[in-house]
Amino acid sequence: MKKKQLAILLSRLEGFENPKAELEQYRTPGSVASELLWLARSIGEVEGKVIADLGAGTGVLSIGACLLGARKIYAVEKDGDALRVLRKNLERTETLECVEIFEGDVSEFSVKVDTVVMNPPFGSQVKHADRPFLEKAFEVSGSVYSIHLAKPDVRRFIEKFAYEHNFRITHHLTVTFEIPAQFHFHRRRLERIPVDIYRFEKSPSGVGAI
Ligand code: SAH
Repeated sequence: MKKKQLAILLSRLEGFENPKAELEQYRTPGSVASELLWLARSIGEVEGKVIADLGAGTGVLSIGACLLGARKIYAVEKDGDALRVLRKNLERTETLECVEIFEGDVSEFSVKVDTVVMNPPFGSQVKHADRPFLEKAFEVSGSVYSIHLAKPDVRRFIEKFAYEHNFRITHHLTVTFEIPAQFHFHRRRLERIPVDIYRFEKSPSGVGAI
């Protein structure tokens, strides 16, 4: 499968029925999800691997990882409405057998995995909502792919947070997240938000980040 094909397929999945602003339910656009997964795949961290998708939503990253040959994906999500759509998307893409749903708060998940992929809440509605996600990701895996707003203060926070948890940033690419307006505070029909895709890797013990 090509990166473009994966992007198209993921963009055709069903999205949130009634997105909840307080949970920051934005689905990852197919192009952004496929960029993240392609990076992980090129480093050898998808095929045959056990992966966790934290805040899996409607399953864009979980399904993409499955289609790229992951052995097993834990889709961690606390919202039952999102999970209903996720199950439908799993059926449609015939990926039921490789995705295991963990229904609950991200802080309750504790399975050690090879790789974490996630598009967590950006923390723009509920301040610091991204922290439990990064914390959990750094706890359960040595290799983490995540999406955050491309803003100087967010970048500074991410760098500091990773450093404090003994992780370093090995890759960093900026892409545009295009989402149709869905919340009342959106002013345009299509919001274009620059975001950063990061890969974090656990530093050998005793060695600082960057
Ligand atoms: N990863 C998905 C959805 C991103 S939106 C995608 O790529 O399309 C963020 C998701 O995190 C939402 O589905 C939201 O319900 C979920 N979420 C927010 N806070 C959570 C928490 N504390 N525990 C588990 N899931 C959470």
